[in-house]
Amino acid sequence: MTESEDSSVVRLGAVEFQSPRGPLRARGKLWFNSVYFLALGAWAVIGSWHQHRVLGFVAGFVYLELTLAVFRSSRLVGGVLYNDELAGRIAPLLEDLCTKAVCLTPKVVIRDDAMRSACVRRSRGRLLLVLSGSYLDRVDDRELRAVLAHEVVHIARDDLHWVKVRIWGSLVFAGAGCVAVLALFGGGVTLPVYGATAILTLMVANVGLSTFNRRLERRADMEGASLCDDPIALASALRIAKAFSDEARQRLFGPRPWRWILSPVSWRMPTHPPMSDRIHRLRELAAIRPPGGVGEPSDPLPGNTQVTAPSDQTGLPPTAGTEPYLR
Ligand SMILES: [Zn+2]
Repeated sequence: MTESEDSSVVRLGAVEFQSPRGPLRARGKLWFNSVYFLALGAWAVIGSWHQHRVLGFVAGFVYLELTLAVFRSSRLVGGVLYNDELAGRIAPLLEDLCTKAVCLTPKVVIRDDAMRSACVRRSRGRLLLVLSGSYLDRVDDRELRAVLAHEVVHIARDDLHWVKVRIWGSLVFAGAGCVAVLALFGGGVTLPVYGATAILTLMVANVGLSTFNRRLERRADMEGASLCDDPIALASALRIAKAFSDEARQRLFGPRPWRWILSPVSWRMPTHPPMSDRIHRLRELAAIRPPGGVGEPSDPLPGNTQVTAPSDQTGLPPTAGTEPYLR
């Protein structure tokens, strides 16, 4: 381990890790958001009392739901973890997979409050791999390598580009929703009502647009399994990820009445194919390509194998050996 010039980063080999950070910042943000949404809700209702009262109540309800959701998320607020043992497990695997896929190595952030087991995202122009600390405790090194391979495929294929497209697409819908409110109700509508309209439209648009993400997930599964040369380990890692995510959601939304009250915002976006399908497809892949059993063991990259997704094609261009990251 070496200390980087940037004090917020710990470097291990070629991999950078976010240094530990307490939950103070996340807690502060949470309280700010709760008060902010509550104030907007009150403004929407009071400001629409004499004109467009029903609209004001609908907007107030939207903000109340958001306030409750944010308030409830205090159950999961945590910080960034770092320890040499975890970093020592992740760094060599990640470095190796990124070298094979010929892609940038992301900065690793290990959180103790993540709802998802692993994901890649971009923040301030920096590529981040966010991992859940408690998920890491549940997977062995073989499963860890497989789940890292899935995420590395997202990076190598530049899938974050589609996330940006999705966000911009949703924002266009949100703008269209606000214009529709203006056209239908004319002037006199308070600002928070437009905000609530944008949020509602954004959520609906996101449901539609997020389904496009499914094919990217299928591709990351198939190519990730080939990249790590271990479809069974990825299937096992996904099974654990599903159990982990269900538990996290149970902790967040809890039993009734919370689950019932928060149902409009607690609904799971259809961004990923059903986990049972993903596991089934990986097992099918393993049946025709057991770990190290087909092809050259020294040449496990997806582009150099003849494997394509069994039963259900990803709908994306086939992986070709000439693809930049596949070597
Ligand atoms: Zn994924």
